[in-house]
Amino acid sequence: MTRAPVAVTADCTGCGACLLTCPEHAFRPVARPGAPAGLDVLASHCTGCLECIEICPADAIVEVRGER
Ligand code: SF4
Ligand code: SF4
Repeated sequence: MTRAPVAVTADCTGCGACLLTCPEHAFRPVARPGAPAGLDVLASHCTGCLECIEICPADAIVEVRGER
């Protein structure tokens, strides 16, 4: 499975800033059984521009380069 260049961690507060910032609309809310709802990053959309990492006030977005 191909992974996106960035991922959202459990530190996400759901503020929505990344959804508004991402030029590719790569973020998708996901329900996680037994865990708080979170965000997935669509590998098919994300270009790795890293603008979301810059904007996230909770430092909840991390680069996953090298783990794909
Ligand atoms: S900007 Fe950060 S804290 Fe806000 S919704 Fe996105 S990942 Fe979560
Ligand atoms: S790295 Fe860029 S394209 Fe990928 S999710 Fe973040 S803002 Fe969107």
